[in-house]
Amino acid sequence: MIKAYAAKDVGGKLEPFEYDPGPLGSDQVEIDVEHCGICHSDLSMLNNEWGMAQFPFVPGHEVVGTIAQVGDDVTGLKKGQQVGLGWHSGYCMTCPQCLSGDHNMCSGQEGTIVGRHGGFADKVRAHAPAVFPLPDGVDAISAGPLFCGGITVFNPIQEYVKPTDRVGVIGIGGLGHMAVKFLAAWGCDVTAFTSTDSKKDEALKMGAHHVINSRDPKQLEAAAWQFDFIISTVNVKLDWNAYLGTLKPRGRLHLVGATMEPLDLQVFPLLMGQRSVSASPTGSPATISRMLEFSASHQIRPQIEVFKFDQVNEAMEHLKNGKARYRIVLSG
Ligand code: NAP
Ligand code: ZN
Repeated sequence: MIKAYAAKDVGGKLEPFEYDPGPLGSDQVEIDVEHCGICHSDLSMLNNEWGMAQFPFVPGHEVVGTIAQVGDDVTGLKKGQQVGLGWHSGYCMTCPQCLSGDHNMCSGQEGTIVGRHGGFADKVRAHAPAVFPLPDGVDAISAGPLFCGGITVFNPIQEYVKPTDRVGVIGIGGLGHMAVKFLAAWGCDVTAFTSTDSKKDEALKMGAHHVINSRDPKQLEAAAWQFDFIISTVNVKLDWNAYLGTLKPRGRLHLVGATMEPLDLQVFPLLMGQRSVSASPTGSPATISRMLEFSASHQIRPQIEVFKFDQVNEAMEHLKNGKARYRIVLSG
């Protein structure tokens, strides 16, 4: 039996819950969970904001732990190895996306907390291609957040951003603070857009060169035509047309924050500078490996606050109230 924390109903408290995972699949591994980050998506799924949560619901998709069991057909992973697991717990491995390396867009993808139970538990299972050994130099307790939040911001950075670019990060939360660290290490001139004044000095310490209030129209107007690339990690509606105005010609506004509110974009700010708007989901296995190597070689560590697993409800409340600095990790 796997011992987990589950909510029985939408928005419910997380309570101890046991389930029988059945026999281990031949292409699966079982991980003894040691640490698990809390992503805002865990909270959105708990509240069924995206209409795809099933109850009882066990959150947790930023797992670090040790491999306890390996399926018969698994190669490349061993019992006792320290590994990480993120949003995806499996890919079909046969669709055109998987065959071209875009597993994060697999049409048969399995989500770690979608229709199955996640990492707020003593054990979790996943298909081997979704599980990654931690490289030397990656600190285990703070590594979990790299596997969802970290890869989600790293993926568009490696696809769209040059070291000479002037870039912005909107929302300095779990994803946003990792984006600032990656972009500073990438060599960019980085602006943090935050709605929380008390985060200003910390954003500068993380590597931002400038800070702008993300909700102040005057500051956005003063930043017109400045940025090659802006990544938004907020889950709310902001004045997107004002943000388009801050982009240089051919600049890109890239959304990873999962807001349900439709974008109300005007064509003219897009058309006038041939600007683009785009979005993306997490990252592929190859990009996850590259992100882990980059984090190790540039000593990029998520800034975390640790709660014990049995304090999971307090931890979720802390995140919900906007108090997390900057990612919460359950451990011990
Ligand atoms: P988080 O830690 O709560 O950070 C979100 C940040 O947004 C906050 O720290 C805050 O930053 C800003 N924000 C919140 N409310 C705001 C408001 N009313 N006005 C202006 N700014 C506001 O959340 P997270 O874990 O980083 O996740 C961020 C989003 O990404 C969520 O929607 C999550 O579901 C999504 N996500 C998407 C993917 C993907 O595959 N695309 C993967 C993981 C997560 P400031 O205090 O600096 O303003
Ligand atoms: Zn996540």
